Amino acid sequence: MNDEQLLRYSRHLLLTELGVEGQARLRAAQLLVVGAGGLGCPAALYLATAGVGRLTIADPDVVDATNLQRQILYRADSIGRSKAESSHTALRAVNPDVEVVALPTRLAGAALERAVAAAQVVLDCSDNFETRHAVNRACVLHGRALVSGAAIRFDGQLAVFDPRRPDAPCYACLFPEDSEAEELRCAVMGVLAPLTGTIGAMQAIEAIKLIAGIGEPLAGRLLLLDALHGESRIVRIAKDPHCPVCSARPEARTG
Ligand SMILES: [Zn+2]
Repeated sequence: MNDEQLLRYSRHLLLTELGVEGQARLRAAQLLVVGAGGLGCPAALYLATAGVGRLTIADPDVVDATNLQRQILYRADSIGRSKAESSHTALRAVNPDVEVVALPTRLAGAALERAVAAAQVVLDCSDNFETRHAVNRACVLHGRALVSGAAIRFDGQLAVFDPRRPDAPCYACLFPEDSEAEELRCAVMGVLAPLTGTIGAMQAIEAIKLIAGIGEPLAGRLLLLDALHGESRIVRIAKDPHCPVCSARPEARTG
């Protein structure tokens, strides 16, 4: 680290758990943020200020006026611009040390596989089940830790799914792919602006812990935050032994 970096990251270096070694791990890390909306903006912003090496941020949308209430990487003059490209500009402005790769596309198929495989940790900051399940499948396939966040109305959720851990559940163990779960969309239901900031920032915390190898990640646990009543609780997520995504394939029959 040069003098400028020692100064920039000095408040991290003071944390004995993190220190120079943890900061070096952050600097060497590649992360993928899927979705540059209410969760992705604060998550990416904190990961950039924290000094991660390379941040890939994927979002096919353009900024519109309704986004500015909570999507804190954008300004009034970002309206009409690509979220991925605008994020790139904002993140590089706050920390030129960080390499930012903007993907202004809906990651799917081979492109999603490549992006997940290249990342150490994946943050799901998307807003729809189709993307969430596709990201989860890719993370299970490539053995990548997934930090999943969600926020709607006054309710937030946060969980880590780490397929490297024995008996780890995956996102589909919690929300099966074939479930009839109703898609709750902020465009219809509304969402409290700083709640998305809270959950997104907590996703950044979990990602930093995973990369630095410190603390206890929220693996196999789901944090539920009720912002309206100031209450939170954590529930264990069990692995579904019949989960079509993460359960081991049955032994080949013999004879
Ligand atoms: Zn599963």
